[in-house]
Amino acid sequence: MLEKPVAFTKILATLGPACGSLAKVKMMIQAGVTAFRLNMSHGDEETRLEYVGFVKAARKELKRSVAILVDLRGPRIRLGKFPEHRTLVKGDKITLKVAKSTTDQSVLPIDYKNFAQDVHSEQRVLIRDGRIALVVDRVVDSKTVSCTVRRGGVISANQGVNLPDTIVTAPAIAAKDRRDIKFAVEHECDWLALSFVRSAEDIAAVRRQLAKYDLALPVMAKIEHPMAIDNLQEIIAASNGVMVARGDLAVEMGHEIVPTLQKRIVREAIIHAIPVVVATQMLESMIDSVEPTRAEVSDVGNAVLDGVDAVMLSGETAVGSYPVEACRIMRRIARRTEEAQFHDTWRLRPSIMPTAGLPETSPEMAITNAAVYSAHKAKAALILAFTESGRSARLCSSFRARLPIVACTMNERSFHRMSLFWGVSPVRIPKVSRIRDMNKHAAKELTAHRFIRPDQLVVSLTGSFAVSGATNTVRLIPFSRLAPSTQ
Ligand code: PEP
Repeated sequence: MLEKPVAFTKILATLGPACGSLAKVKMMIQAGVTAFRLNMSHGDEETRLEYVGFVKAARKELKRSVAILVDLRGPRIRLGKFPEHRTLVKGDKITLKVAKSTTDQSVLPIDYKNFAQDVHSEQRVLIRDGRIALVVDRVVDSKTVSCTVRRGGVISANQGVNLPDTIVTAPAIAAKDRRDIKFAVEHECDWLALSFVRSAEDIAAVRRQLAKYDLALPVMAKIEHPMAIDNLQEIIAASNGVMVARGDLAVEMGHEIVPTLQKRIVREAIIHAIPVVVATQMLESMIDSVEPTRAEVSDVGNAVLDGVDAVMLSGETAVGSYPVEACRIMRRIARRTEEAQFHDTWRLRPSIMPTAGLPETSPEMAITNAAVYSAHKAKAALILAFTESGRSARLCSSFRARLPIVACTMNERSFHRMSLFWGVSPVRIPKVSRIRDMNKHAAKELTAHRFIRPDQLVVSLTGSFAVSGATNTVRLIPFSRLAPSTQ
């Protein structure tokens, strides 16, 4: 058994005022957070820059692999600005007007310029996560739509708007997203996520923008729109990761369909060997309470049983009263659930057995399958994957093989990006030019972090030296012989 407990399910925490200090960020990492989300729908550039600085300083000081994920607003629609809260009452008539802001009390501004072109009468306009519902009576002109309030409530400026019955023609990325992509590149963040992805073409639009810079950031598709469900296969094929963004998914498609959609999206992502995050309201009550509800605990445990790479905290860490406690509790639930689940090895990917055929036929999938299979059969303590881009660690992880994958890399970017992968413990080694030296550094790290004892077996997975995509060698050896001179 490993002496050092390894985190299999990772935790992605959203940054916000409740955790906006170096001390808090450090405490959250120590409590189990492996990645932070910067939600570009909120806040200003100065604050975001400060948050990025905190995460970078904390991960450097703690010597941990911690990713920063920049979550782009994409074609999300919002109300514009207006001075005070307003209360809408069922049956009221209200005019929505395309505008960034207004002081006219009889009008609600909406910041989406194609709004009056896209909507038709009888279609729903949902505000504040669907708590407030309007229905379109009539499109008055190219900027104005009159509606009736079906479900009332209090609204304030900038709240999110969903149009579940409407084909939204907004482009995947707007000027703001282009600025935010530039921010992510300039400040060397690790992942991008795009909201309201509808097709693979939306991901391609982000990649085209990224191609203007010399940094190929991985792109995660947030699945929260009905069209994304229709086009799930092509979106997964085009993306580096997916997020089950249950907040908007529930508003757009109805709450009752979310549990089964979650299972379907998670399963598809694992089969295609890309990381998958389950997000939103996982420990929501912890925004105000130091204890989660039983249902929330079950929700986190259930996502772990589904095999997700990471579970996400949103308001709990961004604006909640107990951000660090929420991380601790999430880690405890994940650990406990994993312990129980690990009696049931190979449950998620039975096709690992060589006779059952491979889910993907690439040579790299075949070699990682061989590594995982031999580690399992020989009861090795861990898989040691030497990786330049993180790809071989990701492929190993997709087998959900219940044994740690220690991913050694000389590449700092890969070191942090891998922090979202299930079961992967990224380790950074210095730049060397011989496999022998690579083994030496890896052995040192494994010993220092008490990952393994000398008598235990290790499966190492290597390729042509420091070349991404050239993994071709599996070795099964006692740890004492990996780099004898270091032990
Ligand atoms: C969601 O809708 O569940 C989600 C994760 O997106 P956001 O937090 O940006 O609303």
